[in-house]
Amino acid sequence: MKTISIWRLRALLLLLVAIFVMPLNTDAQNRKKDKKKKDKTETAAPVKKASEKKTIAALTKSSKKMDGLFTIYQDTITGDLQMLISENDLNKEFIHFAQIADGVLEAGRFRGAYNPTQVIKITKHFNKIEFIKQNTSFYFDPKSPLSKAKDANISNGNIASLKIEAHDSKKGLYLIKASDLFLKETFGQIKPPRFPGSSPTSFSLGSLDKNKTKVNAIKNYPDNVNITAEYVYSSPSVLNRGSNAVTDGRNVSIKVNHSLIAMPDNDYEVRFDDPRVGYFTRQVDDQTSTKTTAYRDLIHRWHLKKKDPNAELSEPVEPITWWIENTTPIQWRETIKNGVLQWNKAFEKAGFKNAMVVKIQPDDADWDAGDIRYNVLRWTSSPRPPFGGYGPSFVNPRTGQILGADIMLEYVHFTNRVLYDKIYNNASMTINEDFKYCSLGHELHQELMFANAVVTATGASDLEMERIKKESMTALIMHEVGHTLGLNHNMKASQLFSRAQLNDASFIEGKCLTASVMDYAALNVTKDRSKQGQYDDVAVGPYDVWAIQLGYKPFKSESERQALLNESTKPEHIFGNDADDMRSPGKAIDPRVNVSDQSNEQIEWSIDRIELSDQLLKDVKTNFAKEGDSYEELKRVYFILTGQKGSAANTISRFIGGVYVDRAMAGQTGANQPYTPVSLEDQKKAMNALSRYVFAPNAFEAPNELYNYLASQRRGFNFRSPEDPKIHNQVLDYQKRVLSHLLHYNTLQRITDSELYGNDYKLSSMMTDLNNAIFKADISGSVNSFRQNLQLEYTEMLLDMLTGKISTKYTHNAKSMALYNLKRIRTMAAPSGNIASRAHKEHLRTLIDNGLKELK
Ligand SMILES: [Zn+2]
Repeated sequence: MKTISIWRLRALLLLLVAIFVMPLNTDAQNRKKDKKKKDKTETAAPVKKASEKKTIAALTKSSKKMDGLFTIYQDTITGDLQMLISENDLNKEFIHFAQIADGVLEAGRFRGAYNPTQVIKITKHFNKIEFIKQNTSFYFDPKSPLSKAKDANISNGNIASLKIEAHDSKKGLYLIKASDLFLKETFGQIKPPRFPGSSPTSFSLGSLDKNKTKVNAIKNYPDNVNITAEYVYSSPSVLNRGSNAVTDGRNVSIKVNHSLIAMPDNDYEVRFDDPRVGYFTRQVDDQTSTKTTAYRDLIHRWHLKKKDPNAELSEPVEPITWWIENTTPIQWRETIKNGVLQWNKAFEKAGFKNAMVVKIQPDDADWDAGDIRYNVLRWTSSPRPPFGGYGPSFVNPRTGQILGADIMLEYVHFTNRVLYDKIYNNASMTINEDFKYCSLGHELHQELMFANAVVTATGASDLEMERIKKESMTALIMHEVGHTLGLNHNMKASQLFSRAQLNDASFIEGKCLTASVMDYAALNVTKDRSKQGQYDDVAVGPYDVWAIQLGYKPFKSESERQALLNESTKPEHIFGNDADDMRSPGKAIDPRVNVSDQSNEQIEWSIDRIELSDQLLKDVKTNFAKEGDSYEELKRVYFILTGQKGSAANTISRFIGGVYVDRAMAGQTGANQPYTPVSLEDQKKAMNALSRYVFAPNAFEAPNELYNYLASQRRGFNFRSPEDPKIHNQVLDYQKRVLSHLLHYNTLQRITDSELYGNDYKLSSMMTDLNNAIFKADISGSVNSFRQNLQLEYTEMLLDMLTGKISTKYTHNAKSMALYNLKRIRTMAAPSGNIASRAHKEHLRTLIDNGLKELK
């Protein structure tokens, strides 16, 4: 030990001496050095240069060379990647696109999921090649001097700066190590961030393991290079090992297909968005315009050109070709093909014949669905389906041109395998900000199981069930294909027909049951079973035909396009998308824009659905307890039917405080004013329906003996514990969802505001009616256990409006009415009825007394 210390001390002293001495003769030394260097280079130049400056050939001699958009070298021993960048590539833009080849749902990364497309510019900075992500959100008119300042305060993203390993100046080529590009999260984040407040026991990925992360496949084409990388995230110990789909929670693989694509050089025509029709867009702000609406939002559309530009109807130069993946069940292929080809009817109106073509992927195909040159209709049977059908496309961010698309479909939606959390959440499903995730399949699944129950209970044939399946499969395919053509949802489309029309089998035959296949409409299951016709859409709707013309018709002039846009006021062109829909409590304002509904008489239609479900509930035991089977099937049908009631109740509730929206432009023929409150008559009708079917003492009463049979089948130890049916909770959930809309601060505020512009259902009347609906029937006598739950929950909600965390969001008017009603409840809840009811009323009084003490 000691000797080492002494040695170290000596070394340190020598170093210090050297440092002090050096500055004295630096110049002289440097001159000496330079001379030495010069001598050396002059005398021994050829030998030295070869070892100092490595050539591309030397660095790639043990590699396999793959030519294409960028030449790629893969080392045959280590698998390491190198890549050539040519001088021609510098300062040029490329498109990067990535999709998940395979992942785990727990990490939100699943097969077929698309990552956002980005524009990458390749530049050279001294001895480095840089990959700079470009900002595509702003437009500057090149004629405006302001365009010289177009980079002001806009940050591009330098995603990689890689050392040039070798340079061939004759050929203008630079060699870089590509492993850093593709084997790290360089192009985009793969491991999801951990949000503050998320449970420490929730599933999470470990750290990216450099040793295990690898390239699985490379495919190089003249216009694109595809690299499949497998990212392995490791952690020595994990709290949450994930579901059965995760084989080893400590080592989780996510496979990603990266594509670098040459920027298309074509005569693609950009089209701008209009609020009256629903296309996906790339949002672009015009920074040199003085308009209030300085938008240049690019709609997503395919580059479809007529072979014969002068012909009224022409085949496209290049059709949109769909491949049915070889994983698709054979008996469904014909129905799927037919669903895709339905869109050709819309394209014909836009001037294109055979715009869509369908082919089947051969079993021995040498390409897979991850290959971006193919648009593939894919089938999976995932352990936990993440989507109901997912129709993503990837576009050129500079123009909006769709470059490719896939459709992911889930087998489970055509089975009776129940995803119970989807039933519970069906009514209050939150909307994903990324509209590309489509839950139609989930919605359809509920609807299919409902139709199945109705058909089974009424003794219809297997043929009828096959028909339902075929029609709904066609509808699902048309919907997802619609997404890949650029269309987003149209949740208002179900306004097209009346109940009488939907009950007229010959009227609806061969039609779309709504204005658009892009809705999540309920299946058409008639209450009067003798009137049953078509269950689902078998053709695209009139809105779809109109929208495709707006996106694809080669217009001769801008006025021709405007004239077509002005047809938005036709009833069959009605449109409202997810941003406007009323799925979640308090979210939007127009009750016509909703999911799981049908007809332009939504309140009556919803009542029909509730009554049909009640009717079926009566005989559910006789119809669905099969000899020799467990009661799992009966339980499933019970939850499907009550779920339908809950969902219909939500639809009705949205009329209270509702305001109809018209997005027509000023002066447009057939236009209404932008905002028109729902009539007093309809709001009252909705309140009465809720009072009767949701809040009344007997609203959720099922035949008592049914409860004894709502039993799950035991499966090992994987069994919901405790297993008894939680009936009160389930009923209260449905009621709470309705209340959370009626008492939402947005709803109450809108009621007061809209009193200024035509709303005749005053806040005071509405809140009084609601109070009566919840108390009047039984508060002076005995209150049953469902109602006790409801009354307490409602009273707590009123108190929350006054003193809870969100009380600041409520208007003074709404708070005054809450206080007024609490005092009325206090008076009404005088001791009476049986012991349980007396206890309940005492609870109410105590809650109000103590709650109001907190009121300042
Ligand atoms: Zn959708």
